[in-house]
Amino acid sequence: MSNLDHGAEIVKSITTLAQENDIQMGVFSAIGALQNAELGYYDQDSHQYKIMQVNEPMELVSCTGNISLRGEKAFLHPHASLADFQGRLLGGHLQSGIIFAAEVYMQELKGHPLVRKFDLTTDLYLWSDAE
Ligand code: ZN
Repeated sequence: MSNLDHGAEIVKSITTLAQENDIQMGVFSAIGALQNAELGYYDQDSHQYKIMQVNEPMELVSCTGNISLRGEKAFLHPHASLADFQGRLLGGHLQSGIIFAAEVYMQELKGHPLVRKFDLTTDLYLWSDAE
């Protein structure tokens, strides 16, 4: 469990937390508030992320994701639901966000670490069973 720093970038902060705790495979969850954010939507036709800028303070209703290896390093896959002052939700792949306040917990998973490899079908780095 950790309280993330006000003004820090959330994806980098959670990635650093995983790396500092030597977590190669795990899950995490965070709640709090962001000062701004960038959400990604993966276009399945063009195989490109469309980036949505959220330039207002938002509740971090839910941020959840996983940690696995991409190369030698712990790699974070974060998704988020954000709410505006009227409770309207936006969501997607969390590209980045500046923390107002955020509480995160992380749980290490045991077993053979999952490794991300490039997938030709989706153009994404997905978990690979092959060694
Ligand atoms: Zn994603």
